[in-house]
Amino acid sequence: MATVVLALALAGCGGDPEPRSDASPSAAGGTASAAPSAPAGETPTVPADLPRVTADLAATLQGVLDRRGAAVLDRDRPGFLATLADDPDLRTAEGGYFDNLVQLPLSQADYRLEPASLVRTGRAYWGVVAVTTRLTPYDATPVRTLDRYRFVPAAGGTFRVASTTDTRWEVEHPQLRQPWDTEPVTVVEGAGVLGVFDTADQRQRAGIVRSVERGIVDVAARVPFTEWGSQAVVYALADPRFLDSFEDVPGGDPEALDGVAFTVPSGTDETSVAGTRVALSPDLLPAAAARRVDPDLDRLVRHELVHVAIGPHDDTAPVWLGEGLAEWVSAQALPPQQRDVPDRAVAQARRGELRTMPTDEAFNDADAPVHYALAWWVCEWLAATYGPDGPFTLLKAFELSPADADPARVVRDALGFSVDQLARRGASFLAQAYAPAPPPASPTDPTAPTAPAPGETPTTPAGRAATSG
Ligand SMILES: [Zn+2]
Repeated sequence: MATVVLALALAGCGGDPEPRSDASPSAAGGTASAAPSAPAGETPTVPADLPRVTADLAATLQGVLDRRGAAVLDRDRPGFLATLADDPDLRTAEGGYFDNLVQLPLSQADYRLEPASLVRTGRAYWGVVAVTTRLTPYDATPVRTLDRYRFVPAAGGTFRVASTTDTRWEVEHPQLRQPWDTEPVTVVEGAGVLGVFDTADQRQRAGIVRSVERGIVDVAARVPFTEWGSQAVVYALADPRFLDSFEDVPGGDPEALDGVAFTVPSGTDETSVAGTRVALSPDLLPAAAARRVDPDLDRLVRHELVHVAIGPHDDTAPVWLGEGLAEWVSAQALPPQQRDVPDRAVAQARRGELRTMPTDEAFNDADAPVHYALAWWVCEWLAATYGPDGPFTLLKAFELSPADADPARVVRDALGFSVDQLARRGASFLAQAYAPAPPPASPTDPTAPTAPAPGETPTTPAGRAATSG
């Protein structure tokens, strides 16, 4: 960065006049090598109406950013717009961003210039800005992302923000862009719910928020963790860009998912996480707006909320256990005849074909619906055998094991038998639960309880499998 600082010192303000329009940084050559300076040996002249570049430049630019952040927290739209260059398109775009932000429960909105990143282009400067926000009470830590802004000189020796978009830099420095950074959103808050929407109408928004409120109450009563605070941030967006920004979603196709839980990195170090949020498919919005509660929607919402509630507790557990817990908990609130599993899973369980747990890599392959069902019924078996804490006791065993521990070994140490035996017991339990009445006794596995579930006999197999992450 030494060369950049040197270029600043040498170049002064004597470059070519900056065009008023917001030239794209690639067109302007706004990267580290691009600072045009006065020809060697010439002393740049400083026009009287321009601020002199001094060591205080970074402080001056930071002052602009401080006014920007204060205006967001104060919900001061004129104050926010006053930090922007006189460019109608910029003001429209940034005004929309401001209108998004002021709907959020932000306790922090901090824009911090990285002075060493400053690059001069003509009379303007590009610089990297660390944007730190915190949704209170939802975020466990502030969330920091990097962006690149362009500053142009303004009257009175100050500067204004002339661009917050540097497409090429953003491609080279991928960040998790939140929906309020990229499109107009409507934010609705419920009891423990922060809902973020784009095209959803008022009924759809209210329906999603109520579904999440119901789900939070149910999941909080069944999952023995409190760090999530019985609250969740939930997106239901028609714009696919947010989900498409994830490279590694279950099944590989973000737009095929009904829902997915995702972590938001704090951005301050490699491992720190501000929280787990949920993104729901826009395909669910009509069901959310229906007059009657949609049980499939509520079940899916509970599934994703289990991931929120478990948070990092399953980081070292196999995928089948995290997904099995989510499926198992989400099914408990349903009457047994509505606890659908795919026909394929029942058929394979009856034929004794489910003899091992799927690997993490295979979990979301073409047999994913069967894997979800088996993982769920392994948890049913654990709960029926060891009590409702049984599945979480196994989760705890993984949490206490080294990240690279062999899952088969963890299961054997925790339960006293192999993971394959666990799979067969869960499959047998599944086959019994969905068997045609009267359910036959299981001749092959004397350890399997004979009742499908405490006091309950699910009798309706089939139904669609919820695709979810
Ligand atoms: Zn899941």
